[in-house]
Amino acid sequence: MNKETLVSGINKFWDDKIIPTLIEYIKIPNKSPSFDPDWEKHGHMDKVLDLAVNWANENKLIGSTLTVERTPGRTPIILLDVPGTVDGNILMYGHLDKQPEMEGWAEGLGPWEPVMKDDKLYGRGGADDGYALFASIASINALQEQKIDYPRILVLIEFSEESGSPDLPHYMNICSEVIGVPDLVICLDSGAGDYKRFWTTTSLRGLIGLKMKVEVLSEGVHSGGASGHVPSSFRIARALLSKLEDQNTGKVLLDELKTDIPEHRIKETETLVSILDDEVVQEFPWKDKMKPSTDNKVEGVLRRTWKPALSIVGSDGLPSTANAGNVLRPYTTLQLSMRIPPMVDAKKATKEIEKVLKNNVPYDATIDLDFEEAADGWNAPETSPWLLDAIDKASNNYFKEPPCSIGEGGTIPFMAMLGEQFPNAQFVITGVLGPKSNAHGPNEFLHIPFAKKLTCCISSILSDYK
Ligand SMILES: [Zn+2]
Repeated sequence: MNKETLVSGINKFWDDKIIPTLIEYIKIPNKSPSFDPDWEKHGHMDKVLDLAVNWANENKLIGSTLTVERTPGRTPIILLDVPGTVDGNILMYGHLDKQPEMEGWAEGLGPWEPVMKDDKLYGRGGADDGYALFASIASINALQEQKIDYPRILVLIEFSEESGSPDLPHYMNICSEVIGVPDLVICLDSGAGDYKRFWTTTSLRGLIGLKMKVEVLSEGVHSGGASGHVPSSFRIARALLSKLEDQNTGKVLLDELKTDIPEHRIKETETLVSILDDEVVQEFPWKDKMKPSTDNKVEGVLRRTWKPALSIVGSDGLPSTANAGNVLRPYTTLQLSMRIPPMVDAKKATKEIEKVLKNNVPYDATIDLDFEEAADGWNAPETSPWLLDAIDKASNNYFKEPPCSIGEGGTIPFMAMLGEQFPNAQFVITGVLGPKSNAHGPNEFLHIPFAKKLTCCISSILSDYK
């Protein structure tokens, strides 16, 4: 494959075709069904689907067929089938649903306002994971332009990833014949340790989400008259949380949520820290003198990739401070987000959380637990020598630096499904979510020069497929 032709071709494709479309994409508030239960009525998903399908047809890959699968009541999926010129079956994956807005966008920026600044395209969903479909097509297009052989490639784009991919198992089932048995899975929905090299993700954490409601009264009463005698629902919720985690250290207490970290993953983390050093701490927007949970950087990275951790991501029953009367409130609801390590069984972990929370509830308060679809984490199988070489060559050619692997603390439910269903498949899980790109938070951006180089690398890896 001619390097210079690839670089100039990919850069032009991004500038002329991808960036203008991503700008339109960012404007559409296509929130994942969990965050927009009325998504069908709102029609944003249809708008995105039209945008993507029209674009793919305008930039049609030679010989390709595009289909939209759509079962009533479910989000759709896009399947773009590109027949190959050599043996093999590659599955490329991305998603076109988005996280909700979040607060804290900087002046002049906003979730649905695309802004290009310093080679970064700001706005919700550009980096996570709007670019994936377009970049996948760009990488295959480059192969066709240079008349390079490639195996059959199926690009699969889903629309419920940010809700835990509830609709994917269904489509995996009804499309199993079209999908076949992938030899290689390429996923463009992951992270990067910096913007200087090609990153591959070697593990992902799983996720258990649940609403925990604690009720103490049938209606709120004057706190002056009741507090002390009537236990507070907040205090009970706090006590329940302490059954899950040590409130002083953040360590999760349940053994069912822990795993023995493989030795080679610890080594990999040490290598990562030796390359990135302080950046593994500085990538977070710390407030004032705030310190991390540990001074040991390797341990810090392992805590966010191979250990369980609890976040409280939402609440009900608590008025805003500006509207908070002195009331002993009838209930407190907390949304719990428990990340679990790779190799932990999410279903077993869910059962354990349920058991612990429902056991010995203080004062016999009424507890209601509403679990979301739990997702397993993922640990990469050993990478084939040809693929290691291909990744190495790609990173050196297009970044002028060797590649690096990284464990990710986030979750891509589909990777666990694929890993289980296709144990012999190889994986290239990569993405543009580098330092400060802030997917899910405010000020999400897509680092355009990095995305262009990453697209070149994908094209190069495809061209080396064996
Ligand atoms: Zn994503």
